[in-house]
Amino acid sequence: MMADMTLGGAKPLVLVVEDEAAIATMLRYNLEKQGFRVEEAGDGQEALDMISETVPDLVLLDWMLPTLSGIEVCRQIRRRQETRTLPVIMVTARAEDQDSVRALNIGADDYVSKPFSMEGLLARVRALLRRSGAVSAKGVLEFHDLAMDLATHRVQRNGRSLHLGPTEFRLLAFFMRHPRRVFTREEVLDGVWGRDIHVEPRTVDVHIRRLRKAINGEGEIDVVRTVRAAGYALDTEAV
Ligand code: CA
Repeated sequence: MMADMTLGGAKPLVLVVEDEAAIATMLRYNLEKQGFRVEEAGDGQEALDMISETVPDLVLLDWMLPTLSGIEVCRQIRRRQETRTLPVIMVTARAEDQDSVRALNIGADDYVSKPFSMEGLLARVRALLRRSGAVSAKGVLEFHDLAMDLATHRVQRNGRSLHLGPTEFRLLAFFMRHPRRVFTREEVLDGVWGRDIHVEPRTVDVHIRRLRKAINGEGEIDVVRTVRAAGYALDTEAV
């Protein structure tokens, strides 16, 4: 189990950002038992300072924090070139869907709600680290035979350059950050267009169609999966 978690031979470093000492201690204990290295930050500013010095392999980020909220910390992580693709799991206090969508909207890769089960949280940490293994330090997202360079805006499939419009580019980046996960049209709107912008849900269908046309070449499988009555996912498996 631990063998596939090692990145470049070193134990993965998890930064735990949590102001409640008891929870931080519990997280450290369990993560270390699973073979991770752990560093702790007690508030948002401290977390950003620590990340500036050493970029961890993953950040477990509490939503409610002194000095800077988890939301603001996540925004700043995404804004910085060197941490744009750093895996972030938000820990929210409320189990409301609004919060989870908001967490994903500002760039978190995943979220758990308090109170969380330690097993569930560790499974998410492992899954995200496995996934992010496909994301190189240069900020290239990879899925199946697709590669997106976030810095140069180059997109390739099977080594062939693709030409995407700006909305299709953001749409594909959104899906590539959360591969195989099914999103409703509303979640796609929130994640790609932003929650403050009013766009009809069927606009998503229009751009999905354009995206498919742009990325699926002759003889290539359709990597955008339509999930009936649910939404869309980036997936290589047919329904
Ligand atoms: Ca807190």
